[in-house]
Amino acid sequence: MTGSDRQSAKTLTTTCCVVGGGPAGMMLGLLLARAGIDVTILEKHADFLRDFRGDTIHPSTLCMMEELGLLDELLKLPHNPVRELQVQISDETINLANFSFLPPERAFIAMMPQWHFLNFLAEQGRRYPNFHLHMLANVIGIVEEDGRVTGVRAETPDGPLEVKADLVVGCDGRHSTVRARAGFEVEDIGAPIDVLWMRVSRREGEPGTGGRLNRGSFLVMLDRGDYWQLAYVIPKGGAERVKAEGLPAFRAMIAKAAPFLAPRVGEIESWDDVKLLTVAIDRLRTWYEPGLLCIGDAAHAMSPIGGVGINLAVQDAVATANLLWRPLKEGSVTEADLAAVQKRREFPMKVTQRLQVLAQNNVVKPVLASTAPLSVPWPLRLVNRSRWLQQLPARLIGVGVRPEHVHSPAAPPARQTPHNSNATIAAR
Ligand SMILES: Cc1cc2nc3c(=O)[nH]c(=O)nc-3n(C[C@H](O)[C@H](O)[C@H](O)COP(=O)(O)OP(=O)(O)OC[C@H]3O[C@@H](n4cnc5c(N)ncnc54)[C@H](O)[C@@H]3O)c2cc1C
Repeated sequence: MTGSDRQSAKTLTTTCCVVGGGPAGMMLGLLLARAGIDVTILEKHADFLRDFRGDTIHPSTLCMMEELGLLDELLKLPHNPVRELQVQISDETINLANFSFLPPERAFIAMMPQWHFLNFLAEQGRRYPNFHLHMLANVIGIVEEDGRVTGVRAETPDGPLEVKADLVVGCDGRHSTVRARAGFEVEDIGAPIDVLWMRVSRREGEPGTGGRLNRGSFLVMLDRGDYWQLAYVIPKGGAERVKAEGLPAFRAMIAKAAPFLAPRVGEIESWDDVKLLTVAIDRLRTWYEPGLLCIGDAAHAMSPIGGVGINLAVQDAVATANLLWRPLKEGSVTEADLAAVQKRREFPMKVTQRLQVLAQNNVVKPVLASTAPLSVPWPLRLVNRSRWLQQLPARLIGVGVRPEHVHSPAAPPARQTPHNSNATIAAR
């Protein structure tokens, strides 16, 4: 934006400006609006309709939705409950995780298209007059005055927009513009894998969600009801080599990993049906500066291992609302308040990333490099035999480290929940 653009920019004033309408941003927006804070969310896309964004809502997020009184409403949306996880190693099936120790109303991972979840949060937020969601608002910079961030600059279809705020929260994901503009130092932890995503139809009675590990091959299969969402893990940067070997060879690899899919791998008609998602694990050394905080993937990009990134982003949002609603209401958010958010969330984030690194280095990498048939390690045999032991991975994946609970207050909503809860949100 040039100097003259800035003069002609439309200006909005809000208490908290949230950049990015992903799981972290939408949840934070809802919680702050519910606590009576004026909140403005800027999302660069026109809608939430993006495929392969990660569609898992974990038990701890379901618990939080219950605390908000929204669980029953949420679960009216189309979803597929995953109550246990299995892993197949060579020809042996191992029961890895079982969520049955949790209260039955949330003893599962809800597989739900992320756009339904985000639309739902947006609609709940819109019940509050102080919740403002701007789609097609692409944040391109932050505004600073006297060493403090006082707002952001965005491009919108109606021209440049400047949002002034007491606090800006960067929830704009792992390629965060906010953290880049702020010059925050990023610690790259590294991820030796990438993932090829695709879908193939599913038949009744086929095995449930889980992984299939065989020599040189690692396939994750997510049961989405009438189709399988497949994640084929490849060594970092290996996509070009896979493509060079041709689509028939790729289909054969999928069929080899999951032989019951062999008659249907032809549904992968072209490389357009296969999406490459590059995996990153990184984190900011410091998540904040005066007037600015980053949370979710913007503060710590998560690997897809364990499918816990959305959960962590949501938990960050809950902790942020718990710790900041009062200073925001009183108009006095200090650096110490922002530091408290990092202090609260850094430990669970670091433990989770550590577990992801351990898994990628000690399980995924050796499996991809293996040329001999794999055998089942003895600890997994023990887990397989004991439903009690299956609680441990279930707890790590489904509940995570230091789950958050909603402590921010609830102002009465001004509007009832709209009926069209599946509707895509249009730009406004
Ligand atoms: C291959 C892969 C698969 C994954 N699968 C899963 C899974 O199954 N389950 C799981 O829990 N996690 C999964 N994850 C991780 C998960 O996607 C993230 O951890 C989670 O989405 C983070 O949420 P977030 O709100 O912080 O960021 P995001 O979900 O990335 O949301 C950021 C939002 O900000 C918007 N935005 C970006 N830049 C701007 C800008 N300049 N201006 C305005 N808006 C902007 C984006 O459009 C987006 O809506 C996966 C990750 C990868 C890489």
